[in-house]
Amino acid sequence: MKTPNTWCPGCGNFSIDMAAKNVIEKMDKSKVAITAGIGCHAKIIDYVNVNSFYGLHGRPVPVAVGIKLANPELDVLAFSGDGDSLNEGISHLIHAAKRNSDITVVLHQNRNFALTVKQFTASSPKGFISNSSPDGNPEEPLNALEVVHAAGAGFIARSFTGEMKHLEETLEEAVKHKGFSFVEVLQSCPAWQGNGEDYHEKTYKMRKLPRNPLKRMKEWNYDNGERIPLGVFKKEEKSTFEEEMKTGKKKVNVLEILNSSA
Ligand code: SF4
Repeated sequence: MKTPNTWCPGCGNFSIDMAAKNVIEKMDKSKVAITAGIGCHAKIIDYVNVNSFYGLHGRPVPVAVGIKLANPELDVLAFSGDGDSLNEGISHLIHAAKRNSDITVVLHQNRNFALTVKQFTASSPKGFISNSSPDGNPEEPLNALEVVHAAGAGFIARSFTGEMKHLEETLEEAVKHKGFSFVEVLQSCPAWQGNGEDYHEKTYKMRKLPRNPLKRMKEWNYDNGERIPLGVFKKEEKSTFEEEMKTGKKKVNVLEILNSSA
């Protein structure tokens, strides 16, 4: 049965949905599993016709880690929002990156809790007027790329919903990467955060892997006034969590691990 689409007209989620579908179309769909948390992003589960699991708020990542552990043959993508994985479930994101679980996390970065009609998240701009910050967000925004970099993520990239070709190519590269891959997608949210005009003006595509990824990640501080780099910041392969578990180097209880950051 076809599910009616309830995203707002002009929402960047349409681009992520389309890019993900195009990438998944090239894969063996019977071996693809996707997860999502709670938020506008999560409706992607209803629109992509593959094995899927709606998680709790902030929990698409640990569910994806569990699926990959249970069946390493699957390609697992976790779709999440900034409120979902930078607020509610940030510990899960950090631990999945640290473990190098062989999953792909796609962060729909719309910089507010959109589904619950506009509250500030960890990555909202400072001063952002919202229903939970009527006098302006008093906090500095969190740099999502720096967070996963600090946790040891092997593949870190950023794209933008206004750059469809770039978005699709970046997602495809992330899925093919062996080990934990993280793609932050700057997403327009016309209802609460605008049409992404700033992103159209300020983003530029990096031509190659930066020598100093952290310096490039810091080029944009998630507030106004800087150029915003798009592309792959870091690409480094190492043994995955699933490989380590299989070789028995780590004789640990899977449930214990998954619960450790809950
Ligand atoms: Fe998209 Fe924002 Fe509407 Fe949610 S509230 S569907 S993120 S435009």
